[in-house]
Amino acid sequence: MYDLSCLRDEFPVLSGCIYLDSASTSQTPKRAVEAMCAYFYEYAANHGRGSHHLARRTTEEYERTREALGRFLGVDPGHLVFAKNATDAINMVACGTCWEQGDEVITTAVEHHANLLPWMALRGKGVRVKILPQQNGIVDPADLQDALSQRTRLVAVTHVTNVLGTVQPVEEMTKIAHDAGAHILLDAAQSAGHMPLDVRGFDFVALPGHKGLLGPQGTGALYVADYSDLSVTCHGGGIVGEVTLEGFSLLPPPARFEAGTPNIPGVIGLGAAIGLVGELGVGEIHRHETRLGEQAWDGLSSIEGVVVYSPKGSPVVSFNITGMNPDDCASALDLRKGICVRSGLHCAHPLASSLNPLGTVRASMGCYTTPEEVAVFVETVEEIAGSR
Ligand code: PLP
Repeated sequence: MYDLSCLRDEFPVLSGCIYLDSASTSQTPKRAVEAMCAYFYEYAANHGRGSHHLARRTTEEYERTREALGRFLGVDPGHLVFAKNATDAINMVACGTCWEQGDEVITTAVEHHANLLPWMALRGKGVRVKILPQQNGIVDPADLQDALSQRTRLVAVTHVTNVLGTVQPVEEMTKIAHDAGAHILLDAAQSAGHMPLDVRGFDFVALPGHKGLLGPQGTGALYVADYSDLSVTCHGGGIVGEVTLEGFSLLPPPARFEAGTPNIPGVIGLGAAIGLVGELGVGEIHRHETRLGEQAWDGLSSIEGVVVYSPKGSPVVSFNITGMNPDDCASALDLRKGICVRSGLHCAHPLASSLNPLGTVRASMGCYTTPEEVAVFVETVEEIAGSR
């Protein structure tokens, strides 16, 4: 049973605000903060180096998170590389693929910049980047079929858009990409931890630790189905077997992709947070967030002068008060009731500016959001709309 009252105790910050910005980053549960404190207070050392007892414990706890994430996703933890965030995970693929002049990448017009700019930057290397159009925040798989060519190496698509919460037909797109011999990268920034996700059909999946997985900021992971096409782009300590002045040999993956001292406390905190997500159950979280999305959509749609862009049920609700700058609306929500929402173009300029040149106000729910908070949010939007 989804017990919101117990869950709220995990997030003390929520007693002082109405946090509706979970699409940007989530609040971190106490158990993750406590796990990070335990690292600092009881056994802090470096990972993978040194044989003293603190280093051994650190390595065990760090690797425990990889195992927990593997269990959570239903994959071998050896296929998970820790990253700083989803952006870092996507860049590992963009920079770690050996591109040849004339290769093609296909992405879409609904992407967050994290899954657009790394590909556009490859144009300088002679890679052709094709961008599929969108309608109402959804990409038509038929357009992917038409865009594919023999030179397409990769299709990079988001699962759920951060502007509208629309869900892309990624299973169909994966089949089309694979049938054409291309790889597919899924940006799961807005789906991991929010809805059931089977990463196994994809070649790469970028996962932020700090959104639906409830981990601390500065954490994330890349799922890699097959490492053979991915080169190491960051060299240094912790990734090598043997080094002479003539050369070096790399450790097997995933270690070879994690050069330098990683975000050890963050990864350990992420492990504890994933435990909470697992206890709640992603299916239950999805049902809860969908109900809240419906409540917000119904409430906002009934207010005169409010335009709602997101589909009903999406826990990411983009809207505007007609004639009002979205930044002003977000500030008014904060000033009146301490309601934290995001406004503007949401690091997804092509999609957000197609809705409104100034972007939108975006309220996004998390597993810890209550119906009472959504009701206060809707009432406050109504007050703001009515007071102009
Ligand atoms: N992709 C999408 C769809 C996002 O919403 C975001 C962040 O909001 C990102 C990628 C980038 O995530 P991160 O901040 O973890 O790099």
